[in-house]
Amino acid sequence: MDYNEFFRKEVNALKEKGLDWKIRVLQGKSVPHAVIDGKKSLILCSNNYLNLSSHPKLIQAGINALKSHGAGSGSVRAIAGTMDLHQKLEKKISEFKETEDSLYYQTGFAANAGLIPALMSEGDLIISDELNHGSIIDGVRLSKAEKKIFPHKNTEELKKILEESEKNYSKILVVSDGVFSMDGDIAPLDKISFLCRKFNALSYVDDAHGDGVLGKGKGIVHHFNLQGKIDIEMGTFSKAFGVVGGYITGTTSLKEFALNKSRTWLLSGSAPPATIASCIASLELVEEEPEHVKKLWDNTFYWKKNLKKAGFDSGESETPITPVMLGESITAKKFSEKLMQKGIFALPIVFPMVAQGKARIRTMMNSGLTKEDLDSALEKFEETGKELKVI
Ligand SMILES: *Cc1c(COP(=O)(O)O)cnc(C)c1O
Repeated sequence: MDYNEFFRKEVNALKEKGLDWKIRVLQGKSVPHAVIDGKKSLILCSNNYLNLSSHPKLIQAGINALKSHGAGSGSVRAIAGTMDLHQKLEKKISEFKETEDSLYYQTGFAANAGLIPALMSEGDLIISDELNHGSIIDGVRLSKAEKKIFPHKNTEELKKILEESEKNYSKILVVSDGVFSMDGDIAPLDKISFLCRKFNALSYVDDAHGDGVLGKGKGIVHHFNLQGKIDIEMGTFSKAFGVVGGYITGTTSLKEFALNKSRTWLLSGSAPPATIASCIASLELVEEEPEHVKKLWDNTFYWKKNLKKAGFDSGESETPITPVMLGESITAKKFSEKLMQKGIFALPIVFPMVAQGKARIRTMMNSGLTKEDLDSALEKFEETGKELKVI
């Protein structure tokens, strides 16, 4: 076996279908006006919703911690890698989310992939929304529990599964994304929470795209006023909070369980001090300066309203994730290329990431965008839409 040949063949197969990743490189900070591959561009596809990744307070907090605590933590958390900063961050997450206790993981992916298989084992059942994130899917795959998938956001079907499963398993977990990343729609968490309590199932929500966005920045649980009613809330610092890292939050017993059982947490070096200090600063900032979340939503409403006015369809979105539906994959790809030439960076999402005929450009709003930026982007979307005869 010529393994290099194997690598090339696999990649070529993706290239033929146009499914390989062409990596774009940012020269400098992730801000709305960035330099990408040497060209000034307006980014409309970053997850940095609140434009916090280069906020002076986050940068300064990182610099201070780098000086006081060093570049690395020296160990995994469980041995010698828990610093006072990690504890301070976990306390801050719990205050922010109004929960008893929290556990920070190196990434959100590590939280889902580490905790889900620890929670559910043989004789248990995991029920998962069909459009859940890949990190949840991998967490489920690592578990020895049985799995059942319910149709997207369909709580009637979820109820049926719970009814027929209630007596047959020792434990049941219901897991859902809070905000779905392809369409920007919101999970019916109030109904899910109600059903979980009714059927004694554990509720688990992944708030990666709700953190810093919904519920005045506090996430989907606050959006639905469900404080204390969701067993496990998981989220990330890599999106609206502008840094990196995952967390889970809930009761102290949950935290102790998670830290003793999650292999991703136990067996991987802990996050460096600068990262942790910037995460703390980001939560403080969202609390102290509500204008960032407000601006994000003002931009979101303005963007959606004017896209619609121009004749575009933004699908089911209820959040700053705004798909511009284009139908065929080839149209979405051409659309994105033309935008790139006009200085707008927004990626196409095509089959098999979304169903056939549902290809789109996925735009994400950002609080750092000005009205002038949005007007200029709208003009280019309209122009491109006419060139490709989609509006
Ligand atoms: C991005 C994302 C994750 C992964 O979070 P990271 O902290 O970036 O690893 C998990 N779940 C969902 C729904 C996401 O969108």
